[in-house]
Amino acid sequence: MGQKKRGFLRLTCEEQLTELEDELQRGKVYEASLRSAKWVLHGLQEGEAIFVDPRTALVETLCHELIHRRFPRLSERTVDRLAKKLLVHLDQAGLWKWFQAYNRVKIKAPPKDVED
Ligand SMILES: [Zn+2]
Repeated sequence: MGQKKRGFLRLTCEEQLTELEDELQRGKVYEASLRSAKWVLHGLQEGEAIFVDPRTALVETLCHELIHRRFPRLSERTVDRLAKKLLVHLDQAGLWKWFQAYNRVKIKAPPKDVED
């Protein structure tokens, strides 16, 4: 296991993902609300444990796309900055409210091909 680390950066994406699948097999991945007064955390690794908070990434993405729709003239950079700022501003109750609002309004859609 020790020698795996050294060459990781030189592996192909496919090989890197295989290695991460291997790491995922080890478990100890927890879904939890991550609370920090300072940071917007999507995840956290602490020793053997990995914590993931799906709410933050989701609400940030949602706010980002809502800003795009509401203010179509804003640049990608500005939208990104605004969405991140709003996430920092949200407290736990606010985050929860937005997560629930998303779950109420979301419509499951079939896979969508996106052209660039
Ligand atoms: Zn965008």
